[in-house]
Amino acid sequence: MKDGHIHTPYCPHGSKDSLENYIENAVKAGYSALTFTEHAPLPASFTDPAPAGDSSMDIKDLENYLADLNQLQKKYQNDLTILKGLEVDYIEGYEKEITSFLETYGPELDDSILSVHFLKGGRAWYCIDYSPDMFKEAAEDFGSVEALYHSYYETLSQSVITPLGTYKPKRIGHMTLVRKFQELYPGPENWQAYASRFLTLAKEHGFELDYNGAGTKKPHCKETYPPLAIAREASSMGIPLIYGSDAHTASALKQGWDTVDQSLVKPWRR
Ligand SMILES: [Zn+2]
Ligand SMILES: [Zn+2]
Repeated sequence: MKDGHIHTPYCPHGSKDSLENYIENAVKAGYSALTFTEHAPLPASFTDPAPAGDSSMDIKDLENYLADLNQLQKKYQNDLTILKGLEVDYIEGYEKEITSFLETYGPELDDSILSVHFLKGGRAWYCIDYSPDMFKEAAEDFGSVEALYHSYYETLSQSVITPLGTYKPKRIGHMTLVRKFQELYPGPENWQAYASRFLTLAKEHGFELDYNGAGTKKPHCKETYPPLAIAREASSMGIPLIYGSDAHTASALKQGWDTVDQSLVKPWRR
């Protein structure tokens, strides 16, 4: 079993659970491999729309993060494979800074994720998964929930198409994150068509998908990212699905694993 999406104490909106704590739990849970994918520092010229500005790790911590992971890779080499990664944000208009960041740090990374959390409306930027209120504001700014879905899938498609250099991540994070508050703000009836079109693009460009269990634990979501029908469609197209707990605490490892269709998950090979 591999978990390809795990946060760490370097996350300012996560927990202070130690890296060792995560790893020990992973060993107990029977993991063969895991990737730590802390939120990469945001481009310096981008203003984090989260009120506390805590969406990502501080650039000052990045060297320590990588050094810690190097050390733990060795310490636990007989127990499981630890891969070094980051969850990198694709932010429209910031491609140059993202590329230069990846050129600098990409050579040190084993396995990373490219995600969309931020969308630009007419009035402001929004972190669409931050809170139901911010989601609502974003939907109002875009004009409707459907318009917000449209913008999310446009941006997710851009993230796949846009060149970000040699070290661009190969896996797309939680491709249905826009559904985090779907029980409060139901998606448009045709939303699966957006997701299907995105899958075609992801396949064409050779991407893997994060098959993410975190949504199952969110009170207004209660489904995996992506949900089963989309995961099946992706798998039938030959798109590799990599399980991700998206844990922000050591006890959240393996979250949603009992809900994902495990037969669709790409088996881990060293
Ligand atoms: Zn996070
Ligand atoms: Zn994320």
